[in-house]
Amino acid sequence: MKPLFVTDIAPLRNAVTDARRRGQTIGLVPTMGALHEGHLSLIEAARAETGYVVVSIFVNPTQFGPKEDLSRYPRPLQHDLELCERVAVDLVFHPEPAVMYPAGFRTFVEVTVLQDGLCGASRPGHFRGVATVVLKLFNLVQPDRAYFGQKDAQQARIIRQMAEDLNVPVEVRICPIVREADGLALSSRNRYLEADERRQAVTLYRALTEARQRIEAGERDAAHVRQMMVDRIASTSGATLDYAAVVDADSLEALTRLVPARPVLLALAVKFGSTRLIDNLQVWIAD
Ligand code: AMP
Repeated sequence: MKPLFVTDIAPLRNAVTDARRRGQTIGLVPTMGALHEGHLSLIEAARAETGYVVVSIFVNPTQFGPKEDLSRYPRPLQHDLELCERVAVDLVFHPEPAVMYPAGFRTFVEVTVLQDGLCGASRPGHFRGVATVVLKLFNLVQPDRAYFGQKDAQQARIIRQMAEDLNVPVEVRICPIVREADGLALSSRNRYLEADERRQAVTLYRALTEARQRIEAGERDAAHVRQMMVDRIASTSGATLDYAAVVDADSLEALTRLVPARPVLLALAVKFGSTRLIDNLQVWIAD
């Protein structure tokens, strides 16, 4: 069956209220569209765990910087709707920016400290836009569970913190990264890559897995681990490092020594031309 397609707030609320009256639990998968297998894995998790699955498709202007790719971000809506039908989504919410940010909109959410490093340092204001739109979606849909990808590790961490700090009654689920056969993490931005850039883009995953191997072999100096990733990216033609980081997966603070019992997040952002790719791996150090 085709999902219900909704662009306004009142019909969204009505449909969700009806589902709840029928006794269904509500699952929410927020996306910016240009759906791929990564998004579909979140939708499938929602489908398996909740009765009524809402997918939002909204290219959120407040999370893009003035020099970023807001206007050229892909918007293949018809194809997205076909994919949503294929994975049995119940409702697609696709608002215009003016529905989410009407004239006079004034309120923003910030998750302090967690928003500052990693992607937040290269994209000032990005996570303020993300947290704000996600809280709005939480309030509009009031889902029992909401699904996010570990692909955007800092985003996932920030949203969990926001839901907890602001007492949003939602269970935040974080799903594993879906990758291409060569290891490249699926991303809507991969379609910007030229053929040679696409071949080189596997360098992110290679850098991360090499760093993980080094940790597994006993390396405990975070600077050495980080340098390995920096060197791998530097040796890749067409690739420019934005950041390489070895941080505590919970606090997102840079580490100096790696210690057992606290998960480590290895995180990378790399540019190919104007296309910025991110990827990460979590590593648990054995005692
Ligand atoms: P986006 O449309 O890029 O805003 O992504 C929507 C959601 O899909 C976010 O929670 C992302 O973390 C998640 N996502 C994007 N790519 C992947 C991937 N390769 N694997 C798993 N989840 C992903």
